[in-house]
Amino acid sequence: MSGAAIALYARETADVAARQARALALLQRAAAGHTGRVVQATSLGAEDMVITDLIARHALPIAIGTLDTGMLHAETLSLIRILETRYGLEVEIYRPVAESVVRFVRANGKGAMYESIDLRKGCCAIRKLEPLSRMLERRSAWVTGMRREQSANRGAVPFSELDDRRRTKFNPLADWSWADVWHYIETYDVPYNPLHDQFHPSIGCAPCTRAIAAGEDFRAGRWWWENEHAKECGLHAEDPATAHVSTTGTHA
Ligand code: SF4
Repeated sequence: MSGAAIALYARETADVAARQARALALLQRAAAGHTGRVVQATSLGAEDMVITDLIARHALPIAIGTLDTGMLHAETLSLIRILETRYGLEVEIYRPVAESVVRFVRANGKGAMYESIDLRKGCCAIRKLEPLSRMLERRSAWVTGMRREQSANRGAVPFSELDDRRRTKFNPLADWSWADVWHYIETYDVPYNPLHDQFHPSIGCAPCTRAIAAGEDFRAGRWWWENEHAKECGLHAEDPATAHVSTTGTHA
């Protein structure tokens, strides 16, 4: 496979084999320690596609779940079928409660997320946090694609931690660079979102994602009208009080 993103980002860095081995070992630990109760919460971004590939390649008993917020790009949604076909697995899809979405849009309008941080977080609570809480309901652990390099807010992401419900959250790519992610994608021919070829390093809902310019932070294309500290959707908030729905930490 060769695309603009691979040409731009893939690079074999020092100790990449050790980082790959550590990520695999962490996933094996997650599978062994939480049999039948661990899920990868995939955003279908590049990091999460790498993790799904590791899980499938090594036949690890880790479920794959994703959130269909109702606002995703067609390119993102089509990755679900691509994953299922490529790896012969079933992706659990969690959607928001329709009545909650209708009520929120009726009260606040379709562009509410641009009006205030509170309304944006309210939208994330309905479309992401509540469905995520259902994904994690009977689980004791989950796996995310968070990396330290993604933003200043994520600079201290550990390999594993407890969320506010005392579930273990595994972040196997915590110490991976963007070059490592794309080196893996190139090496193992991992499917990825074509929007990455159009300068979207971080892909979320369509209204809240834009392409970035050279030199911008990875997550500069997410909620770009807000200041840096507000830029999480609550899926990975350390303090659940910062999320509108008390659930876990975050993924996105
Ligand atoms: S990312 Fe944007 S559209 Fe998606 S749930 Fe959050 S505010 Fe709503």
